[in-house]
Amino acid sequence: KLHNTILELKGNIRVFCRVRPLLSDDGIDNVTKTISFPTTTEALGRGIEVVQHGQTHPFMFDKVFTPQSSQEEVFVEISQLVQSALDGYKVCIFAYGQTGSGKTHTMMGTPGSYDDKGLIPRSLEQIFEAREKLKEQGWKYEMQVSMLEIYNETIRDLLSSNKYSSTDSGNKQQYAIKHDSNGNTSVADLTIVDVRSSKEVAFLLNRAAQSRSVGKTQMNEQSSRSHFVFTLRISGVNETMEQHVQGVLNLIDLAGSERLSKSGSTGDRLKETQAINKSLSSLTDVIFALAKKEEHVPYRNSKLTYLLQPCLGGDSKTLMVVNVSPAQSSVNESLCSLRFAARVN
Ligand code: ADP
Ligand code: MG
Repeated sequence: KLHNTILELKGNIRVFCRVRPLLSDDGIDNVTKTISFPTTTEALGRGIEVVQHGQTHPFMFDKVFTPQSSQEEVFVEISQLVQSALDGYKVCIFAYGQTGSGKTHTMMGTPGSYDDKGLIPRSLEQIFEAREKLKEQGWKYEMQVSMLEIYNETIRDLLSSNKYSSTDSGNKQQYAIKHDSNGNTSVADLTIVDVRSSKEVAFLLNRAAQSRSVGKTQMNEQSSRSHFVFTLRISGVNETMEQHVQGVLNLIDLAGSERLSKSGSTGDRLKETQAINKSLSSLTDVIFALAKKEEHVPYRNSKLTYLLQPCLGGDSKTLMVVNVSPAQSSVNESLCSLRFAARVN
């Protein structure tokens, strides 16, 4: 039985799955194949099967990428979605999966490497290239970037010149999420930078990465326990056509989805675990409610969903990339991720 019962209801929500290659770190327990890709006409490029305790679990998604799929092949499938932000759509692309499944590889790739560039740098290059072409048709665009991290339901500004201000200020008003009457959100005091080229954004991404790694040593591998939210606001005017568009592209590297063992966690670690579980399940609840076109969408249950509210639902577009490790030792987590995604799908 395929877990795609609400496929026809999902509207602007798409789910892709990406299986990373086996790594030498995955160990030698991998002679048994846990994941395979069916080649029937119906399932080709969309199906994935996971074997657990001798039982086969089949899933179907909008698209499935195998360990052989390149960054370029993944990008080709999302480039239209990225383009639609220039047309004034609000777009969210999430990377979901356990720690080590390839989320950051998918979103960022290897900085500096041409082939390994992930969705974020590729998207920006495409947007700035397209902007040049649209200039000829009279379009003028302004672009603004912000980058933040949500850790333990607390927002941290990754572009702030004061690296430490956000985490231990204790000031509740700082980084408060505000919704205006146009249905847009803003974050109080968040650094927003005007950008004119993909190079400028690359520079900012680098700065944000450094700001994140400072947190990492300080805060117990924070990066795998926090959500990274990259936001590009696009404002376009065409005076001759008397048109105005405002698009948003959100690219989100989610916290690791692994169920951290409850028994072993106490104190800060327990709080952390609860915060991650809460925000990931809130995100699932929101996306599921949207997919089912439910009247009440529970945006307010987490910072992440409240922040992204205007970009989830309505005529906005959402893509979830579910990253999966093929390692035998990850089979339980892989099944959890796929079941989560299948529920959305
Ligand atoms: P996550 O962000 O989900 O914790 P990473 O993106 O850091 O996972 O990936 C874990 C490791 O696997 C990294 O060393 C990364 O370079 C490698 N990796 C992930 N996906 C791929 C891929 N598609 N091809 C090659 N290496 C990959
Ligand atoms: Mg990561």
